[in-house]
Amino acid sequence: MNQTSRIKWSDKIIWLVFSLALGWPVHGSAWGLEAHRIVGLLADQHLLPEVRKRIKQNFNITSLANVANWADRVKDKRSQGPWHYANVLKGEMTYVQARDCADGKCVVEKVREFSEALSKSTSSHQDQLEALKYLVHFVGDLHQPLHLGNRKDRGGNKIQVKLRGRKTNLHALWDSGFVNIDDDNLLQYARRLARRVLPTDHLEWVRSDIVDWANESRKHALISAYDKEIMSTGVLTKAYIQRAREVIELRLSQAGVRLAHLLNSRLN
Ligand SMILES: [Zn+2]
Repeated sequence: MNQTSRIKWSDKIIWLVFSLALGWPVHGSAWGLEAHRIVGLLADQHLLPEVRKRIKQNFNITSLANVANWADRVKDKRSQGPWHYANVLKGEMTYVQARDCADGKCVVEKVREFSEALSKSTSSHQDQLEALKYLVHFVGDLHQPLHLGNRKDRGGNKIQVKLRGRKTNLHALWDSGFVNIDDDNLLQYARRLARRVLPTDHLEWVRSDIVDWANESRKHALISAYDKEIMSTGVLTKAYIQRAREVIELRLSQAGVRLAHLLNSRLN
């Protein structure tokens, strides 16, 4: 996928506001970089101690953030681009495998497949290691709303929009156009997100399944990303940007909590 995104918030909002006001190019690493690392850092904090120890001992991984972008690095070489998203038929509210991912080569089915491979006793050590690295990445991708975008517009890639006079597309914006986070601040940022997760949210989030995660992304895509006004004018508003930030922070938090829960149940 070249469908990515991440958010930056509190202190960096100031940076964003200034950037927008001055018309600076607002860029940053894709969801494939910073956001995936944030999901890994968040999940680190929710791993059971024995699972964390197993991941270190069996796979020599000290932080999930360190392997969070491996899947993006190998995707071209392995022709795995479609594994990172699931495009849905325009007008449909939910993901349906038979219609949207009949060949199983999309992010929803890959999360399912690698979850099983991770805990299967017949999987080789190498297969388990790869399954773990794919999961760290794909659980993040699955939570990015435009990874469950419309097939017709390629998840927003074909929708042109303007940000302070600069032409871009909707997908690129949700990838990396809203906020920038310095690498040095990623851990701090992840900890701040983690502190905001209420126990009741945590409980509710881990009760859901993989298709629920996909359908949540689909809902956020339809309600927030494919905003009617933005679609008709192509011009982003402050309200749109603010809402996008809130959605992305929520999705990063949910992805981190759910990734940890999945690994806790598969590796314990
Ligand atoms: Zn990806």
